[in-house]
Amino acid sequence: MDLRDSPEERALRKKVRAWLRRNVPRELRDGPGAEYGDPARIEAAKRWQRKLYEAGYVAMGWPREYGGQGADLRTQTIVNEELVRARAPSLIGMMGIQMVGPTLIQWGTEEQKRRFLPPILTAEEIWCQGYSEPGAGSDLASLQTRAELVGDEFVVNGQKIWTSNAQFADWMFCLVRTDPEAPKHRGISYLLVDMKSPGITVRPLVQMTGDAGFNEVFFEDVRVPRKNLVGELHDGWRVANSTLLHERNMLGSATRTRQLFDRLCRLARTRERNGRKAIEDPFVRQRLGDLFARVEALRLDSYRQLSEAVRGSTRPTAASMTKLVGTELNHEICALALELLGSYAPLTRRSRRAIDRGIWAWEFQFTLGMIIGGGTSQIQKNILAERGLGMPRG
Ligand SMILES: Cc1cc2nc3c(=O)[nH]c(=O)nc-3n(C[C@H](O)[C@H](O)[C@H](O)COP(=O)(O)OP(=O)(O)OC[C@H]3O[C@@H](n4cnc5c(N)ncnc54)[C@H](O)[C@@H]3O)c2cc1C
Repeated sequence: MDLRDSPEERALRKKVRAWLRRNVPRELRDGPGAEYGDPARIEAAKRWQRKLYEAGYVAMGWPREYGGQGADLRTQTIVNEELVRARAPSLIGMMGIQMVGPTLIQWGTEEQKRRFLPPILTAEEIWCQGYSEPGAGSDLASLQTRAELVGDEFVVNGQKIWTSNAQFADWMFCLVRTDPEAPKHRGISYLLVDMKSPGITVRPLVQMTGDAGFNEVFFEDVRVPRKNLVGELHDGWRVANSTLLHERNMLGSATRTRQLFDRLCRLARTRERNGRKAIEDPFVRQRLGDLFARVEALRLDSYRQLSEAVRGSTRPTAASMTKLVGTELNHEICALALELLGSYAPLTRRSRRAIDRGIWAWEFQFTLGMIIGGGTSQIQKNILAERGLGMPRG
């Protein structure tokens, strides 16, 4: 596959770049999608996603009838690269756009696609992921939240934990046990749950970043219409795994890593070390060079995946590799930033003296969380060992 821009692609790149230059909100630049407890920032993040969507740059690959443009992968890659270049913030509706949306495109009924896909794009409906439970994390198939089919409704009882964004999400894609007698992977179903349903209680949990970004979610006789079942009854494990593949690609995204790395380089140009700019210090340059080689390797692997996808083939281990390498690299980039900050490193955004609005201390902690979320590094290594290298199950 030729990765150089064709004349049409060059024109598209120019157009996207010009639009982003005019429209990326300064106050959201480089930032996370939203600050969890702050309704004003959540609203600002929703407005940004809507604007980007109206300009035609959100989930361009989705089919036209559900609000997308049916764009090819190369077009989407160009837009993603330009978003990084413009230091655009990540989107608040990522779990909808990158996780449940593609899952519905693959597994949903026509009615589900028409109902749920368009408001994902416009950020009118924000989604959260109800997978983990107190006794089911790495061993997700042990989940116990129960859903009984009564007439045309499921009645859901149980508890989810570590549910990111549940405090402001409108909907949850949720794994429930519908057949407790079946072997554990076979008695699970995949439901779409309205977070405003009676019987749902959301309790925020404070993360080490200081934000209450994830939550406990309790279900007490929560009624979910049968039409909100995705895939077949008791066959939710297969649907759940599609979502997990999309999640792993999202968490290990090469573009996000590149954005963090570029930001680190900007920091190295401004910080002093041994009487000169940090970027001129041989030790720092060596570390930056090492990180850059890995950032580039991740980017080239994402192109390899792109080229495979265009040819209609995918490696079963690609998403695990991306997640493992991308999330660990993000954390290492932040670790070097903290070293460059020296005694300023622990200052958070609440301190007037914080450099880069204290984002590095926050990112260092957040990126550690991302090594765990979506399946820990150890679990990704197990998958790579077993499915990639054919090693025996541990
Ligand atoms: C920031 C953050 C956001 C999250 N958001 C969500 C969300 O929105 N929705 C959601 O459903 N979940 C979410 N999670 C939960 C996440 O998916 C789980 O934390 C993760 O799957 C690990 O499960 P656990 O915490 O129960 O740890 P455990 O499964 O108890 O693992 C504990 C340790 O044992 C290791 N381990 C376990 N089994 C094995 C094995 N077979 N081989 C080798 N090592 C093993 C693990 O790697 C880990 O180090 C989030 C987590 C974090 C940190």
